[in-house]
Amino acid sequence: FKSKLPTVGTTIFSQMSQLAAQHQAINLSQGFPDFAPDSLLLQYLSDYSQQGLNQYAPMPGIAPLREQIAALVQRCYGRAVCAEQQVTVTSGATEALFVAISAVVAPGDEVIVFDPAYDSYAPAIQLNGGTAVHIALNAPDYRINWQQVADAITARTKLIVVNSPHNPTGMVFNLNDWQQLQQLVLQHNLYCISDEVYEHMVFDAALQLSANNFAELAQRSFIMSSFGKTFHVTGWKLGYCVAPGALTAEFRKIHQYVTFSSFTPAQYAIAGMLQHQSQQVSGLAAFYQYKRDQFASLLQGSRLQLLPCQGTYFQLADYSAISELDDVAFCRWLTTEHKVAAIPLSVFYNQPPQRRIIRFCFAKQSDTLKAAAEVLCQI
Ligand code: PMP
Ligand code: GLN
Repeated sequence: FKSKLPTVGTTIFSQMSQLAAQHQAINLSQGFPDFAPDSLLLQYLSDYSQQGLNQYAPMPGIAPLREQIAALVQRCYGRAVCAEQQVTVTSGATEALFVAISAVVAPGDEVIVFDPAYDSYAPAIQLNGGTAVHIALNAPDYRINWQQVADAITARTKLIVVNSPHNPTGMVFNLNDWQQLQQLVLQHNLYCISDEVYEHMVFDAALQLSANNFAELAQRSFIMSSFGKTFHVTGWKLGYCVAPGALTAEFRKIHQYVTFSSFTPAQYAIAGMLQHQSQQVSGLAAFYQYKRDQFASLLQGSRLQLLPCQGTYFQLADYSAISELDDVAFCRWLTTEHKVAAIPLSVFYNQPPQRRIIRFCFAKQSDTLKAAAEVLCQI
């Protein structure tokens, strides 16, 4: 059997969560909350299911949810999108990414991605016969050098994938980043995938900007987000893609055969939350900023050096004062010997830089963060 993904193994998230479970370690590796979602959301899920809404949803998603998504985009970014023709509900942002990449990328196409990159981008590009062109971002601030991006564009470049707020670094695009991106996309007739799953987690009163804010960029973009992140339900695997009508039509051709439609009761439950509890979304940044600050202050006595975190629920830390192990070995050692699991940064690079940096997820209860920090302050 000739593998279509010969260099791909099991994801680091599965590996580290499994190792954490095996060693009963505090799991700050894979990104997910260890606290319950809003009880009203769970009530809605149960109610809608009891009411009999258990069969296939319409292929693009139920209308009430698509309308709430359109209202959210309007509220957050002032952009009017058509729920009918421009919004598709997906089984997580992961599905949206795969479908959008499949819709755009043909054999021979080049796609620009920024390393460290979320691990699903490159395999999806490869499966569609494309080539990922990796541009490395560097510590401590991981900002994009747009001249370097311009220089990487060739006649074959078809797509650029951006992710702000950025997993794993916590870097957030500023106005200039979005403007530079828009200019390159227009100038070279590229398409853009804007992975905005952490859109509502932007800290320190910085502007929450989106590809939705830039009209011409939005005309060539698939903009995606995840209710897993926004409502603390990563296991529900519910997300969406906003794209212009013509791109949405292509997107849906593929979505209908990848999964057809997504979990029906969850669609109604999220639509209900968006309708009645929209302040939940706007409170998310303050909620996670508090956790970021709490985790940082708990780690003050440690030998970890924390890097800036402007958004997401991830904190990077340089451990070079503690160990000379490479980051993969260090994360294994930390998990097995000290019972705290983290994610090594090098696995998100095509060509890893020689830096000793790991990622912690701080979407955890105070007690979890305290217990982890206690250990981390002693190593
Ligand atoms: N993109 C990024 C940057 C992510 O961190 C995640 C979270 N796993 C996803 C996409 C996928 O989101 P979902 O869990 O909704 O599939
Ligand atoms: N997005 C999550 C993270 O970055 C993991 C998602 C997954 O397990 N595939 O940790």
